[in-house]
Amino acid sequence: MSEQLVTKSTDLSASSTPSTPPYVVAPGLADRLARRVVTSPGATRHPSVTPLTGGVIAELPVSTVDDVEMAYLGARSAQPAWAATPIEQRAAVLLRLHDLVLDHQNELLDLIQLESGKARWQAFEEVMDVAGVCRHYGRRAKDYLAPRRHVGAIPVLSQSREVRHPKGVVGIVAPWNYPLSMSITDALPALVAGNAVVLRPDEKSSLTALRTVELLDEAGLPEDVLQVVLGDGRHIGAAVLDKADYVMFTGSTATGRGIAERAGSRLTGASLELGGKNSMYVAADANLKAAADSAVRSCFSSAGQLCISIERLVVHESVADEFVRLFVDRVKAVRVGPSLKWDTDMGSLISLQQLKTVTDHVEDAVAKGAVVLAGGRARPDLGPFFYEPTVLDGVTKEMTCRDCETFGPVVSVYRVGSDAEAVELANDTSYGLNAAIWSRDVKRARKLAAQIRCGTVNINDGYTAAWASYGSPMGGMGQSGLGRRHGAEGIHKYTESQNITAQHLMGFAPPKGVPAGLWARSMTMNLRALKKGRVS
Ligand code: NAD
Repeated sequence: MSEQLVTKSTDLSASSTPSTPPYVVAPGLADRLARRVVTSPGATRHPSVTPLTGGVIAELPVSTVDDVEMAYLGARSAQPAWAATPIEQRAAVLLRLHDLVLDHQNELLDLIQLESGKARWQAFEEVMDVAGVCRHYGRRAKDYLAPRRHVGAIPVLSQSREVRHPKGVVGIVAPWNYPLSMSITDALPALVAGNAVVLRPDEKSSLTALRTVELLDEAGLPEDVLQVVLGDGRHIGAAVLDKADYVMFTGSTATGRGIAERAGSRLTGASLELGGKNSMYVAADANLKAAADSAVRSCFSSAGQLCISIERLVVHESVADEFVRLFVDRVKAVRVGPSLKWDTDMGSLISLQQLKTVTDHVEDAVAKGAVVLAGGRARPDLGPFFYEPTVLDGVTKEMTCRDCETFGPVVSVYRVGSDAEAVELANDTSYGLNAAIWSRDVKRARKLAAQIRCGTVNINDGYTAAWASYGSPMGGMGQSGLGRRHGAEGIHKYTESQNITAQHLMGFAPPKGVPAGLWARSMTMNLRALKKGRVS
């Protein structure tokens, strides 16, 4: 725990639990961070609450719709100069942020944990994620954005070049579940591509986002290029997206659908990273101990409040009994609790609303005949929103948790008789975000993976392997979203491509004096030759 950042409050909060000190963010820090928020004098203030205790840790000002307008004015006037800055200099900002995030990881970990309630290791995954995205785009952006030559209509005579321009100002609405990673990583490729950004982090994760924006300033990003507004999603978040030249939204499918409609009516491009109902398949030949370890992490990281978290454990019947025993033993050993040290495996849910959803899903399943193999209880003795890591068996289609995303620490076990049945179950959802396969036969697992309609499929891992392969696309099929993060798609989406083609010597129409029929015959011969050749 970073002492200069988080102190134990002398004012004992009524909602704090006996085992947890009531935390507050060090005096002065919130005020310093608030200076980066676009607000008007006399702005109302919003309390930041830590789910670890339910106590208030700081207060931050709230922006108005007029402030969002001001943020866009500032961003629009700063963007052309930023776009004109050489790409090497823009990329260098990301590479400096990489180091700053690693250097300041302790205070970031404290803030992430305080705002989200997650365990420290899972907060550290966010630090690694930001560093990874910085490194990837810091090194690769120049190549991704470089002009590309293409074969012209008449090879050699037509010289075609694809160039990329920034969209302008990208509007980003980020969710609360990954306060560091979700708030900042989507801005990084947008910025390095020459865009300005108006960022609205979630109200529950604003401190972490603001501290990271400070680090971006320190890394050399001109301040006006990244504007931050704070406020609720339905008003301030919506205002941010309604003015954007490109919409970047992460959240639930229900909200994403409305955002897509509004962006579509303005003919504005949008990337929507939405919910999922993700499966892990443990095949008959899987390394069961490794699969059980991986399943614990993949189901209960951030208390299951992870879009790519596994909520369906699909197990081949020949190994199901053994696997379930290994898995349930491990789940029962998960250390749950509020701590800013490295000594817990799972933290809290974010809010009362999230606790209610989890409780409702488990109670509904149990009332309809499901069996609780582990967990199944709220833990108010640990903190107001804690819930045990929970394993259900016997879940059927009548139960809400079969198909609806719980977004909490609840996983259901399903037994299947074949790989084909496993694929069928993984695909039996309108979502298509993430899946995992455990098998010793990677070649066969790759074939199975290609049959699963999900944006990412991890083989012998739950989610990190695919997510952290930053050169590969990351995103959802079906109701899990539109657009991709990471790799070429993750930066090209923030650009407009343009085709600039120069025609040399002669054009397409018959040259003066050449009969059209003769010209058409010569063109036909050319087309045939082109098809036989290697150009396309
Ligand atoms: P949500 O859709 O209710 O809210 C997400 C964010 O959008 C919040 O910050 C909210 O304030 C804001 N918001 C709400 N209405 C808005 C509007 N009309 N215009 C603009 N912004 C608005 O989702 P939630 O329940 O808070 O978050 C959990 C969901 O997010 C889950 O479904 C999860 O799977 C999904 N998620 C997806 C990813 C991904 O990468 N695919 C990552 C994290 C979370």
